[in-house]
Amino acid sequence: MSLKININQDRLINLFLDLVKIPSKPCDEKVVAAYIRSFLENLSYEVQEDDAGLKVGGNTGNLICRIPATAPGFEPIAILTHMDTVVPCEGIVPVLKDGIISVDSQTVLGGDDKAGIAEVLELVKSLADGHYPHGEIELVFTISEETYMYGSRHLDLSRLKSRYALVLDEQGAPGAVINAAPYLYTMDIQCKGKAAHAGMCPETGISAIQIVSQAITQMKLGRLDNETTANIGMISGGHARNIVPEDVTLIAECRSLKLEKVTRQIEHMKSCLSLAADEMGGTVQYDIRQSFPGYTLEESNYLVQLAHQSALELGFNSSIRHSGGGTDANILNHQSITSIVLSIGYREMHSSHEHVYVKDMTDSVHWLYSILQAMSGNHGESN
Ligand SMILES: [Zn+2]
Repeated sequence: MSLKININQDRLINLFLDLVKIPSKPCDEKVVAAYIRSFLENLSYEVQEDDAGLKVGGNTGNLICRIPATAPGFEPIAILTHMDTVVPCEGIVPVLKDGIISVDSQTVLGGDDKAGIAEVLELVKSLADGHYPHGEIELVFTISEETYMYGSRHLDLSRLKSRYALVLDEQGAPGAVINAAPYLYTMDIQCKGKAAHAGMCPETGISAIQIVSQAITQMKLGRLDNETTANIGMISGGHARNIVPEDVTLIAECRSLKLEKVTRQIEHMKSCLSLAADEMGGTVQYDIRQSFPGYTLEESNYLVQLAHQSALELGFNSSIRHSGGGTDANILNHQSITSIVLSIGYREMHSSHEHVYVKDMTDSVHWLYSILQAMSGNHGESN
């Protein structure tokens, strides 16, 4: 039996509109952090700031705010949203029409992740206004999520006691529970041939463009299976029409839910390039890095099921699925906090078509409270 929380929809809309009007590109979240701090301090909650900002060159750290339990027997839970948005985020003009908030500017809306922040602040205000039973809630507002989760990587975990976390950072109507996300590896590849005059002595040159072209025709790219992808995103090289090109740079990436599949794909791409280079007398150098780790939680996982069942009980179209992108959950799952990502309403993220249905935001707050209520009683082990 779940108790529905009394949400003030106008307040939620105004919170969202206020938040999206504050530009907050990665490492520049100070003003939005001050807004969140003031909102929570007005409710008499203490807000802490960690030193992540100093570590990543930002102008604020991650914010952490503890909402005390109002009833015994609940498992504590962390709720994460991120304060930064992608650019362009200066001069955002949000427009509310027919229950949809979109943007009347050549910017993103910033619903990713301001919708999450507005929802969590409305949740906390609604909880403070009423007498709702819930356990301890640890709110975390991270910085620089869009730049490979710098904020959560440097989050001071000693300040958190939760073993479970909800990351409010997936697009679409509420109901999707993300239980897995990929490892991401980036590859910066330098191919070297030998320059020569293209008309007088091309036979003394080695075309780096031909080397990479031959390699790419042998390469498996795109969607490799249901959990693995690879892409060459940029090629640049050559100097002039009449010079055999000596240098080519490729910028590529590989993703998979399975680390061994990423490793195998990287070896495959390297071997295509090295074979072509050997054949034509060129060389290739690689700079390969893990940008973030992946995670997979079983569908039967306690938290996954709890969020899924709560959504079904509310009549949402709920699914458990994996994502192709990374969030703060990728980092926390590798730091012993079982974390899932929830869809919270924003759509067409990272574009000027980004928009949010007001109903999706209010439904998300109901979903969050329903999950909080379900955190009572028996709970399983994290995996
Ligand atoms: Zn996001």
